[in-house]
Amino acid sequence: MSEAIAHRLGAERILHPRSVAVIGASEDVGKFGGRVMHYLVKHGYEGRIVPVNPKRDTVFGVSCAPHISKAGGPVDVALLALPAHMLVAALADCAEAGVGACIVMTTGFAEAGEEGAARQAELIEISHRTGMRIVGPNCMGLISPHSKMALTSSLVLETDHLRAGSVGLISQSGALMVSMYNRADDAEIGFSACVSLGNQADLEISDFVEHLIHDDATKVICIYMEGLRDPARFLALADEARRVGKPMLVVKTGRTEAGVESAKSHTASLAGSYDVFSAACRDHGIVLLDDPDGMIETADILARWPTWRGDGVAVYSASGGGAGIGVDRASEAGLRLSILSEETRANLREVLLPPQANNPIDLGGRTVSDPFEGAERAYRAMAEDPDTGLVWIILTTVPFYERMTELIARTALASGKPFIFLVTPGSAADGPRRILRELGCAYFDRVDDCIRVLGARDAYFRMREQAPDDAAAPQPRAPRAVAPLEGRPGELLSEPVVKSLLEDHGVRVTRQHEATSADAAVSAADDIGYPVVLKPVAEGLVHKSDIGAVKLNLTDAAAVRAAYGEIETAVCEHLPPSAFKGCSVQEMWKPELELILGIKRDPLFGPVVVCGAGGVLVELFSDVAVAVAPIGVAKARDLLLSLRIAPLFGAFRGRAPLDIDAAATALSTLSEIAVSHGDRLVELDVNPLGVRLQGEGVCALDARALLR
Ligand code: ADP
Ligand code: MG
Repeated sequence: MSEAIAHRLGAERILHPRSVAVIGASEDVGKFGGRVMHYLVKHGYEGRIVPVNPKRDTVFGVSCAPHISKAGGPVDVALLALPAHMLVAALADCAEAGVGACIVMTTGFAEAGEEGAARQAELIEISHRTGMRIVGPNCMGLISPHSKMALTSSLVLETDHLRAGSVGLISQSGALMVSMYNRADDAEIGFSACVSLGNQADLEISDFVEHLIHDDATKVICIYMEGLRDPARFLALADEARRVGKPMLVVKTGRTEAGVESAKSHTASLAGSYDVFSAACRDHGIVLLDDPDGMIETADILARWPTWRGDGVAVYSASGGGAGIGVDRASEAGLRLSILSEETRANLREVLLPPQANNPIDLGGRTVSDPFEGAERAYRAMAEDPDTGLVWIILTTVPFYERMTELIARTALASGKPFIFLVTPGSAADGPRRILRELGCAYFDRVDDCIRVLGARDAYFRMREQAPDDAAAPQPRAPRAVAPLEGRPGELLSEPVVKSLLEDHGVRVTRQHEATSADAAVSAADDIGYPVVLKPVAEGLVHKSDIGAVKLNLTDAAAVRAAYGEIETAVCEHLPPSAFKGCSVQEMWKPELELILGIKRDPLFGPVVVCGAGGVLVELFSDVAVAVAPIGVAKARDLLLSLRIAPLFGAFRGRAPLDIDAAATALSTLSEIAVSHGDRLVELDVNPLGVRLQGEGVCALDARALLR
């Protein structure tokens, strides 16, 4: 059996165990072990329950074992609610007794300094030695509604039910898991599983993701994450989820520097750069959200309507104001309004005045006397239009608010098309909200919440339609044989060195020679042809133009001679004279547009490529796009087209379009360099890459790299 399958089966057994032991069980619901037992019994877990407590005969009527070794039969899962100093010994006892997996809620491990980290290492050692799996430590347990099993101490389980459904939730944070569960329960959204993982000492996010992908009860997978242990495995699972059509939604902390710090101290995980993470998600079909409740609400909508009926949104409102807000917000969020056919509009004109008989619909402009008849017929016409993929129902207060809500909800349910309700936030909508809950319809009372879900749903289906990038496909291509980069760790490679590396890989660079005297510079220029550019070659000089040492557009020998002297003087003013190694004489290659292309190393995903507008624009607008390397040319093109400066690639103000294909090829090549020299390259910048008109290509005008 492969290790991955073992993990998956481990996760499955933990969520659907035949027997559960609670170590430290008590009847005192003020204690962890008391509440866990209470909820386990209260919610009707049907497997065998074994409370372990040497001081009691029974707990909540269930007979106790004095020690886990006296459990009187196999135990699939043991939950340990003990103080940190007793934990390691108790865990070892469980392993000895043949327990399948332990859930460790205790805190005071890797998240709590060196001593805790050492204690966590002991847990891992026991798990590796014995094969017993561990969830946690520092977790809040799990909820498995289809097995009627609550294995957590959280007060949110005071309800009279566990809400089963089709959303699978994995959360590194226990507190967030139960808060999401609670809020979802209020909205009548049920779960196939809720798992909190804490420090992920043994079983980690991907183990449960893998299980949920294969779990029939799960339609959508939601993850709250702080860090990732094995990014490659996670992304491969995302690809698998995309293949089987299960949406994966993620909220990740560590977006800001402050967030990164808190992630490290919270579950001792390594947080990577959020931009890279979000690029990886985009390329593997994962929807990234910034709010946990929004994630669950989106999951609910995707679970209700897993198939895409098209991206056209029909706005159906009870008022002109609601319709106006609906179309504005939908358009701003990048959603497309459905274009109703002539037939649909003719049908609408039978019940609505002509200005209202289109998308958006405003029920206020009616031609039939019965408002209910008008509402129902208008809804049907709009939902039946082939371009309508979803109806956004915006109900402002209307006469007979409740009755109208019920009629529209029933019509919408009967239509079979996806729909989503927005009702007014005030108490006047309490009745309509109750009706929508009773009918099982999703509703929101804030436009922002609604738009967030609609946007995320749209993003999911768009990514699902996208073909995965060839270059990033799982089967690695034969790596190009490359000579290792020469240089010491920490060395900054000069422009000529990096340009020759680029040239070796087929990226066009400026024709250039190095010259160590003014005379040599002149003969180099004669050879290259005027006009030329002169720049210093100097150790430790990062920004050449900052010290006025880049001389452009030199048209004759006298200018070259003068430039050489000026550059030498400028360098010697800023650096020790020994740093000056001469000048690079290069062809003057005048571009239409300058880009910056770069390679960076991400702590999680390794080599990544970055592209953006060249020069000051990149700093001014932080207009950059990122992708995990390698990427193919098509993907590179998409990245360039995602920049805000993208319109400049097209025909612009009378000039012909630019050579975006050549730029994309250069970016893709850079991504290959990133991979093949990944062990040595910390970063590499081509700044700028000059871009000329279509068919005229690109050229690296400046480049530098840092070794490690
Ligand atoms: P720096 O070290 O300051 O980044 P660069 O070599 O990038 O110096 O030169 C500064 C600017 O000069 C570039 O951004 C580009 O606009 C222009 N430039 C540099 N080299 C050339 C060249 N060979 N042909 C045309 N323009 C160039
Ligand atoms: Mg530069």
